[in-house]
This record gives sequence, structure tokens and C-alpha cells, in this order.
Amino acid sequence: MKADPGAQRRLLELQAVDTAIGQLDHRVKMLPEHALLAERQTRRQALGQRLVAAETALSDATAAQTKAEADLVPVRERLLRDERAIEGGTITDPKTLKSMVDEIAHLTARISTLEDEELELMEAVESAEAEMARIQAERTSIEDEMRALMAKRDAAVTDLQADLADRRSVRSSLLAELPAALVDSYEKVRARSGGVGAAALQGRRCTGCGLEANPSDYERYLATPQDEVLRCEECDRILVRTAD
Ligand SMILES: [Zn+2]
Repeated sequence: MKADPGAQRRLLELQAVDTAIGQLDHRVKMLPEHALLAERQTRRQALGQRLVAAETALSDATAAQTKAEADLVPVRERLLRDERAIEGGTITDPKTLKSMVDEIAHLTARISTLEDEELELMEAVESAEAEMARIQAERTSIEDEMRALMAKRDAAVTDLQADLADRRSVRSSLLAELPAALVDSYEKVRARSGGVGAAALQGRRCTGCGLEANPSDYERYLATPQDEVLRCEECDRILVRTAD
């Protein structure tokens, strides 16, 4: 393929712009904030699950506490009634009196058991509430961190995008100036050569693959007319002679 030597040299400018664009794209993808945000997001989700568990524990404990309180009411009423009956002195039958005293002892023991249970349930409620408060505080703090990370990420992306837009505009200008066939060939090589389609020949070395041409290839490079597009014998990239 033939191309004006000046156009061939400008191909190196296009390559430099494309390399810069590739690096900027890579920086956008590899911003540290992406990984940090993903890590926070995982922690936030885990906290969400813990919060559901704590909410369930709180609701169970609250329901059980309500039930224990309700259970206590009739027992206390019964005890009060029995005590009043005895204090009133109206029960004279020793057997009835004895059974009532036994019942008072039983009711007192039952009240004590229910009150112990109620106390334990109150503690369970408090502990579930405290756990929920801890989780919510932790989640708020993670969400604050996420908001800060997102702002930092967005600012970095905006800067990189502005830089990318500049490079793309330079790229468009270069494309408009360069022969279509040369660009086409460059794009094909670039696609299969890790993003580098054109390289400079520096001395005997191809800057694309870094290899030095052997003497016979180098002789051929030198003998090739300047308007003939050279390809590196080693990597097949377009090889641009920068010195006239
Ligand atoms: Zn090469």
C-alpha cells in the first residue's frame, strides 16, 4: 500500500491519541471508587439482612411481652379477690380457707414466674431495639461514605470524560486529514495488535513490538520507497519511518 510519508507520520499522532484514549477509558473503568463502592454496597446489603432479623426479633419480643402482661392481669385480679375474701373474714369453713390459702400461694408463685418472664422479655425488647439502632447507625454511616465516594467518582469521571472528549476531537480532525485506506489498514492492525496499529522505526527497532529488525529485513526497510507503507516483519504493525 502506498501513502504519503507525511500522512504515515501523522498516523503516529493518531496512534498516540488512540493510546491516550485507551488509557483514559481504562482509568474510568479502574477508578478506585468503583471497588470501594462495591465493597460498601455488599456491607450495606448484609446490614439490611441483619436489620430484618433484628426487626423480627423485636416484633417477636414485643408480642411476647404484651402477652405476658395480659397473662398477668387475671392472675393478679384473682389474687386480689382471694386476699380480700380472707381479709373480709367471711370465710369460716376451714377447708375452704385452706384451699384459698393454697391458691394464694400458687397465684403468688405464678405471678413471680410471669413477672420474671416479662422482665426477660423487656430485656429482649431493649436489646433488639439497641441492635436495630446500631445497625441503622452503621448503615447511615456507610451510606454517607457511599455518597462521598459517588461524588468523588463522578468528579473523576467528569474530568476524564472532558479529557476524552478533547482527544476524540483531535482524533476526528486527524481522521479527516488522513487517507481512508491508510486509516482502514491501521484500524485492522490495531484491532488485532492490542490497540497499537502503527509504530515508529527507531534505528532498527520497531517501537510496536520492541524487536530489532534483522540485517536483511532492515536492508529491505531502507530500500523501500518512502511512500510505500512498511509493515514490521515481526509484529505486522504499520512501521513508520520518522526520519527522512
Ligand atoms: Zn514490530
